[in-house]
Amino acid sequence: MERPNAWNAYDEEALAKLEETARDYRDFLDNGKTERECARRAIEMAKARGYRDLNDLVREGTALKPGDKVYANCMDKAVMLFLLGSQPLERGLNLLGAHIDAPRVDLKQNPLYEEGGMVYADTHYYGGIKKYQWVALPLALHGVVAKKDGTLVDLCIGEDEKDPVVGISDLLIHLAQDQMTKKLSEGVEAENLDIILGGRPLAGEEKEPVKATLLQFLKEEYDIEEEDLISAEIEAVPAGKARDMGLDRSMILGYGHDDRVCAYASLRALFSLEGVPERSCCCLLVDKEEIGSVGATGMESRMLENALAELMALAGEGGNLPLRRALASSRMLSCDVSAGFDPLYASVFEKKNAAFLGRGVCFTKYTGSRGKAHANDANAEFMGRLRGIMDEAGVAWQTAELGKVDVGGGGTIAYICARYGMEVIDSGVPVLSMHAPWEIINKADLYEAVKGYAAFLGSP
Ligand code: MN
Ligand code: MN
Repeated sequence: MERPNAWNAYDEEALAKLEETARDYRDFLDNGKTERECARRAIEMAKARGYRDLNDLVREGTALKPGDKVYANCMDKAVMLFLLGSQPLERGLNLLGAHIDAPRVDLKQNPLYEEGGMVYADTHYYGGIKKYQWVALPLALHGVVAKKDGTLVDLCIGEDEKDPVVGISDLLIHLAQDQMTKKLSEGVEAENLDIILGGRPLAGEEKEPVKATLLQFLKEEYDIEEEDLISAEIEAVPAGKARDMGLDRSMILGYGHDDRVCAYASLRALFSLEGVPERSCCCLLVDKEEIGSVGATGMESRMLENALAELMALAGEGGNLPLRRALASSRMLSCDVSAGFDPLYASVFEKKNAAFLGRGVCFTKYTGSRGKAHANDANAEFMGRLRGIMDEAGVAWQTAELGKVDVGGGGTIAYICARYGMEVIDSGVPVLSMHAPWEIINKADLYEAVKGYAAFLGSP
């Protein structure tokens, strides 16, 4: 049983739509390199399509009816979008859930120090990274600085072509004799992932003159002091834009495909629905997946049930029991990327059950590791239903398992939502070089994910 390549089925019209989708997605990536930027962008997109802030509706006590569009902003780092269907919410929703955080290098709370004529930012990496991949490449700084008086200073340095970039040095090969004999995981140590921020002393400054230049810059440009960095979230990410990849332009090289490709496809699918669907639809874009879905903005929080409780009250379906019924009767695609088959590392894959770039959106019945431990093993009945929905909508899809048995593994937000008793399965786009500074996807898989997610949302 081999799945066909999606490209073979495209006519001129489909190819034009695919290219338009890819262009718009690259733009989404370029403007969303952090969870905050993605959340902001998603809210802008939603507002432009008539979505209203749940907090406003609650404050005004606005009654909700089928066809109404609502968004909930969770601390500017996670967003939930709801489109009310014609059925009562108690009958369950069709949910898409993706994450908008990505592996990166975060500045520590007390980051600055001067050494060897340079000023550095000390860091603590975020998520699962191969540390050696993050040295010797241009990095940009994105984030916010929260001042004592409550003002929030936005910061983005290194994306505009006129901007300077920052970066982490690597040891020169000439002196790397010891380093080169180390295990790959130890070649670059976490405490050595410090970012060079400057190298010019401030005239007349005796103590830490290079750091003084940096502090002067921060004061003049952003009106922030060194102490303000204590309450900052500054993320170093690969600098530059996503690019078409391959001489045939069939792929996209970009930072954070995991999981912004599924986040984008989810948004686009939701916005593509015409009229009022039978079942209410929801698109969840959550934070903190890469560090275990913890925290108030991660899937482990109660953000979904809290927002749904408010929504149901406004729709005249308030109460604990209807809320529980709504959650238990829901169906969800946990939209997260899968490992694409990489011929250069073929030995970690089992080809019959691997995802291939270009063969469409993947469905992963179970993730986990070593005997399916910690997997959300989706129900056969649900997978059967999805096969019907996908085939009827002419979606190119494939199944995927994350590598050979006992080679490794991973998880998503699927098992967390399954706690409510809803049907959940993992579904996403295959990626090469996952968690590397620059990841690779095939445009056809993005295009098929949008189609597949839309067909699922609109299904009765
Ligand atoms: Mn992911
Ligand atoms: Mn990941």
